[in-house]
Order: sequence, then structure tokens, then C-alpha cells
Amino acid sequence: MVRTVKFGGTSLADAQMMKRCADIIHSDASRRYIVVSAPGKRNPEDVKVTDLLYRLYAEKYSGREYVDTLYQIRDRFEEMICDLGIAFDLSAEMEEIRTGLEHLPGSDWLASRGEYLNAKIFAAYLGVPFVDAAVLIRMKADHTMDEEETYRNAAEVLKHYEYAVIPGFYGADENGRIITFTRGGSDVTGSVIARAVKADLSENWTDVSGVLSADPRIVKNPKRVSMLSYRELRELSYMGASVLHEDAVFPLKNTGIPIEIRNTMDPEAEGTRIAAVYPFDRDKHLVTGIAGKKGFSNLQIEMAMMNSQVGFGAKVLEIFADHGISYEHTPTSIDIMSVIAETVYMESCRNELIQEINEAFHPDRIFIEDGLALVAVVGEGISANVGVAARVLQSIADAGISVKMIDAGCSELNIIIGVTEADYEKTIRSLYDSLEEYMH
Ligand code: ASP
Repeated sequence: MVRTVKFGGTSLADAQMMKRCADIIHSDASRRYIVVSAPGKRNPEDVKVTDLLYRLYAEKYSGREYVDTLYQIRDRFEEMICDLGIAFDLSAEMEEIRTGLEHLPGSDWLASRGEYLNAKIFAAYLGVPFVDAAVLIRMKADHTMDEEETYRNAAEVLKHYEYAVIPGFYGADENGRIITFTRGGSDVTGSVIARAVKADLSENWTDVSGVLSADPRIVKNPKRVSMLSYRELRELSYMGASVLHEDAVFPLKNTGIPIEIRNTMDPEAEGTRIAAVYPFDRDKHLVTGIAGKKGFSNLQIEMAMMNSQVGFGAKVLEIFADHGISYEHTPTSIDIMSVIAETVYMESCRNELIQEINEAFHPDRIFIEDGLALVAVVGEGISANVGVAARVLQSIADAGISVKMIDAGCSELNIIIGVTEADYEKTIRSLYDSLEEYMH
């Protein structure tokens, strides 16, 4: 049995937390490849080391005073090393950062130093080799990973190590230049390493006991999801549930390697298992979770005989694409077409969108309605069971909420409801209340 173990920033925020993580590693010899984030927040007012590094870069780049930030970073690591009671030459590392900064090697290099140093310190504390992600993960200039090369190379390098500590969040291009994933990207590293070493399980230790079936800020004590499929996780994260980086699923999707979300503060708690194949009987487990997002706009076009105009929809979407807008839904009826997209994307070009569509089609009516929220009910069991959509709509009607849009057609595993932002929280609560009995 081989496990990869990724620890998030709060799990490694100080020496005390690091010791907890060490206990977790020592409690099972199969926890062999350890991927770490940079130190996160120790309390709500604290600043993540990665944020300090980005601040340092911005200060240096704009010619401002940066020494305070540099010292703040040094002090955090120094305190950690001192509390762990290990011998570690931090001054040499800080000197490298300081000289690196003089040559402005790019924000990626600097931002990656949080993971780099944290991994080195944790490796020293555990007495396990440090293996730099720069020699394992091959990145391309566009910040995507060269998958083939990475899996081949990482497997080749890591087969010489029984145990290793690896920094998350970055890799390097063929010239050795450091390139990061997007924020929160250590999750991606965890999955990449799990695939490269053909792990049996990819553990992801964080500060919550797994995936919750609804946002706890909206629903009181929502059920924990014990298991879900990769597809369900993707739907839930896309619709706002934040547990894992959304790209962390891709490396493992076709491998059969599950991810387990665990809580560093409560290591005995079960957590959530995310499996490639849906682990339940679809007839018994209908709904897995509810998630949603505010901040959508609906551009609506009304035009008599719209449905007989071949290419109408394609042309409208082309206008959106020309403005670089990615849309979410396009509900249509016989003479009305709606395009729903995030308001932030539409904001800068709303007049142009209306003008270009007007010029192309002279519709009877065109307008943009802002302040929409989308709520998704997610579950692989939805497709296999009659009546989920009816229950969803009934519960919303009972709560006196007016539905702006429904999309239940194309995806087998979700039903999406559009409501006004003012009704958002109420919608989630009433859906949760009526669907809780179906959740697992
Ligand atoms: N430290 C990076 C961030 O704060 C990556 C990570 O923690 O996964 O985004």
C-alpha cells in the first residue's frame, strides 16, 4: 500500500501543527510521499506566507520598501525552526531569496519559495529526503503541465526514494524556470504525485472534516458527505463548494486512485472519500450536495419567428465569444433566447453586446437582467430517479421563491435553478430541508 499525503497551509502553519502532521505520517508506514503547502494562517488575522511573498514581489517591483515583508517571512520560518528544535541554515536560504529578488526572477519563483522552504524544514524535522518539485513536475510556458513528461519523470525520480517530502504548487519548464499552478495548486501536486507513483490512495489533509452537503454559513450543521464521485465533486466545486483545487481531480480521474479529504485537527474523523466510480446504489442515494453562486446576469433576446432562423443562436454566442465571455447556460424557448454569464465578464461590454445583437438581428426586445444566483442540486442518483426535479421545484414554490431559470436537461447529475440574489440563501435552505433525507 502506498499513500501520498498532502498537507494544506493551515495544517503546517506553525511548529505545533507540523508536529501533528508528523504524528499522522508516523501512524501509518504507507504514508510515503508527502506534499506540502506554504505556511497558512495561524489565526484569522494572520497572513499566509504565499501572500507575503506576492506582497514582497509587488513592493520590490514597484520600487517600494520591502525589507519589512522580507523580515516577516524570515521571522515566521525562524520561529518554526526554533520551536521544532532542528538545525536548519535559514540564513543561507534567506540570502538566496534576497539575491534572487535583486534579479527579479519572476513572481512565480518568489511565490514558490513558501512551499520550497516549508518542505525543506518539514523534511529536516521528519528526517526524510527533500525532493524538489522543480525536478519532478514539467511545466509549459502557459502554466499548464506537460503531463506525459511529468508522470514519466516523477515516477523515474521517485522510485529511488522510499519516503520523500515534496513542495506543492509549482514545477519547472525545460530550462529549469519555476512556474506555479494557480492559487491553491498544492492540491494539484498531491494528485500528480499520487498518479506518478501509482499510489493506492491520495490523502488531502486540511482544516475541515471533508466535503459538506451545503455551505455551513447558510445551512446549520449540514451533513458531511462520506463518499462522492469525481464528477460530483467537480460539479459542487464549480458551483462554489471549496474543498479541493478544481484541477486536482484531473490527474486521477481515469486512474481509479481515490482522494480522501481528512481533518488534521481531528485525525480520527472519517473525512470524505472521492472515488472515480460512483460508490453508491444510485437508486438509494439521490442527492449528494447543494452548492451555488451569486453574481450572474441574463441577457435576454425576444424576437418573433426566432426558431426558424438557422444559425441565430450560434451568431449570438459568437458575439459573446468575440468579447471573451464564457457563458454558463442558454435556455431558449420558441421566440426567446437567454444567455447567462457571470456579471463580471459582461460588465465591461454590456452596451456593445446589446448594440451588436441589435445590429445583427433587430430583435423585438433585448435587455440584461443582473443580480441572478444559480443553485445546483448535485447527485449521480438524480438521473436514475423520477421525481427529484419535482421535489426541487415544489420546495422552492412552497418557500414562495420565484424561479428565473431551470436547467435540468443536459447533465445527468445536476439540476440548476436560477433565482434572484435576494432569494439565494432561502433557496439553498429550503432545498436542503426538503432533500436532506435523500442525502448520504
Ligand atoms: N501556497 C499556495 C497558495 O496559497 C498554494 C497552496 O497552498 O496550495 O495558493
